[in-house]
Amino acid sequence: MATTNELRCSRCFMPVEAVDGVAIVHDAPYAVANYGQCSGSGQPAIAGPGTPPAVWSSEDSRSYVELGVLPSPMPQVTREGWTVTLTGVRFTHQTHCGKCRRALLVATEGGTIQLGFSDKGRSFVKMRPGARATYDGPCPNNGCDYRVVIGGRSSHPLPGLPVVDGNTVQAREWERLRLELGVFTVNMTPDDLTRLRSTR
Ligand SMILES: [Zn+2]
Ligand SMILES: [Zn+2]
Repeated sequence: MATTNELRCSRCFMPVEAVDGVAIVHDAPYAVANYGQCSGSGQPAIAGPGTPPAVWSSEDSRSYVELGVLPSPMPQVTREGWTVTLTGVRFTHQTHCGKCRRALLVATEGGTIQLGFSDKGRSFVKMRPGARATYDGPCPNNGCDYRVVIGGRSSHPLPGLPVVDGNTVQAREWERLRLELGVFTVNMTPDDLTRLRSTR
């Protein structure tokens, strides 16, 4: 996994060039026609990737950047036909404390997201968090020190969601696929399908 510390934009969280620590003017990572210039242009760049805490409370008032959840390691992107694979994606998982019942979160690394068009012209997304979330320690919620075990025999599997820069890369790749095929609607016409199948 890439562990290089790089400069990231404070708004889109993508790698960005900076002059004296200030992000140069750059476009939004996708849908430039809608978003235009990224609002992080001219703003101080941030260093990444951050290191998330072992566990944190959903009531924690710090931002994900302050916590180190963002920015995350940049996913690697590979493509085969009309399937794009993102590897090395950070996921967050939510569960709750068995005593105070309040929500808490953990992060895992190395997740995979596959997206693209099937042979029938349907869009698909498959997400697979890389590692099972684990934690064994005190509850991070204020005033509660109850021992929390995540990933143990009795704890339930947690739903995982990719962090926001993982979502941004997904959106960028969707845009690339759709631009290349020239299809922006949910349903494909027979002509679209012919093009799709002739170029897989
Ligand atoms: Zn930006
Ligand atoms: Zn608790």
